[in-house]
Amino acid sequence: MIRHYKMLIGGKWVDAQKGEAIEVINPATEEVFATVPSATKEDVEEAISRANDAFQKWKNETPFVRGKILREAYQIILQRSEEIARTMAEELGKPVKEAKGEVEKGAEILRYYAEEGERIYGRVIANEEKDTESIVAYEPIGVAAAITPWNYPIELLAWKIGGALASGCTIVAKVPSATPLSPLKFAECLVDAGVPEGVLNIITGSGEIVGHELIRNPIVKRVAFTGSTETGKEILKMSASSGIRKVTLELGGSLPMIICKDANLDAAVTGAVRRSFRNAGQICIAVNRIYVEKEIYESFLEKFSEKTKKLVVGNSLIDEHVDMGPMCTRAGVEKVERHVNDALKKGAKLVCGGKRPSGSIFERGFFYEPTIVRDVNHDMLIMREETFGPAVGVMPFNNINEAIELANDTNYGLAAIVYTNNMNIAKHCAKEIQAGNVAINNVDAGVINAPYGGWKDSGLGAEHGPEGLHEYLIQKHVRIRYFI
Ligand code: NAD
Repeated sequence: MIRHYKMLIGGKWVDAQKGEAIEVINPATEEVFATVPSATKEDVEEAISRANDAFQKWKNETPFVRGKILREAYQIILQRSEEIARTMAEELGKPVKEAKGEVEKGAEILRYYAEEGERIYGRVIANEEKDTESIVAYEPIGVAAAITPWNYPIELLAWKIGGALASGCTIVAKVPSATPLSPLKFAECLVDAGVPEGVLNIITGSGEIVGHELIRNPIVKRVAFTGSTETGKEILKMSASSGIRKVTLELGGSLPMIICKDANLDAAVTGAVRRSFRNAGQICIAVNRIYVEKEIYESFLEKFSEKTKKLVVGNSLIDEHVDMGPMCTRAGVEKVERHVNDALKKGAKLVCGGKRPSGSIFERGFFYEPTIVRDVNHDMLIMREETFGPAVGVMPFNNINEAIELANDTNYGLAAIVYTNNMNIAKHCAKEIQAGNVAINNVDAGVINAPYGGWKDSGLGAEHGPEGLHEYLIQKHVRIRYFI
């Protein structure tokens, strides 16, 4: 039976005013299994208005009161993590074990921001004049709008909810139409933890209607967007149409991985497999392009393909051993096919994968095999565009400056990975690579308490860490003279 879920406006679970709905598909079976409301402009206006009403009280609560609710939400999410993870697996195809990790990380983000909110400090600055001083204070900016993509439906939402609520902002979040269910269940935990009515609003609906209203509504004082570079550019333009507001953009990437001849090869191979194929390559910091120093090119490829071929592809709701599920959409599979076929047509060689898997369990669903193509070059789409799927290009390099030049030969600048045991090379790469995040001898460029943001066409501003919290604050300078 098809399940129906409602959205959250002003503390109530409601349908869209016009009663229209969006279908949610299981990408492993291609079956519609749920529906959510398709919100109208009026629904969004109502949510923004309720968020604005709630802001007047929420901003004046102490960070300790706000933190207590976020910590309670952390506990509730952990209790429900298995159920929420299974829902995410159903709507996204992400293996249940990884989905559970994401739900737990979402909880951890709220706990982190509960504490970071208690550490919002101002400054007192001496003035030249006697008995006069300047106070710099930070205040919550107002109603925040969030727009998130489907690939990490809870984690990317949690960054925005955590930052907004801990700072004293209220929020209206538009969750992705492909994967709205796990975010709705996540929000339910916050409601059950005692988040007051109107402080958190979750809207389901299209980018064109819901997204546009969120960006243009003059009450909204801050827009937090995660998604493609194309949409991000449109949002930046649109957001100025009805007033100036703070905008952060976490956008696409085309992540380079450089592996030097002195690197720990086994660690590099493990890292390459994890970051190329986790979540079927649908990660903004998925490895798109691998550059390997020529002396170890063949041995790397041998070990990389050996480990990749062992990955179990399938539906994790049926087989718990699955490492990689289906892609989220048919369009995603078609894009990977385009990139792989383009590379092969232009002279690259297939190492493994390169097709949709065969067998009865793959008759339906958006599956694609983990794919490695070698001997690629920068004329190929796989090395120039974000593939956002389980396919990666590998090419050799002669020296580190050539590798850095190749890594920087892109409009993107989200993150890069380097494997080397030479600390001079590590430092040189960290300095010269044009990206907001550089991971050396590891593949996890994002951690909770350090800023995460992209350079060039990969974004604007930061999430994570105190910097992420400050995106929800506005500074005020108060200059006081005392008559002593
Ligand atoms: P997308 O840009 O198509 O959609 C993202 C969100 O924006 C969705 O909720 C969508 O409904 C909404 N939207 C679409 N068009 C809109 C419009 N014109 N106005 C307002 N809202 C609109 O991206 P996607 O396909 O959902 O996600 C994949 C992309 O997200 C990839 O490029 C990936 O790299 C990027 N991403 C970046 C990060 C990061 O932290 N930098 C993290 C995850 C994903």
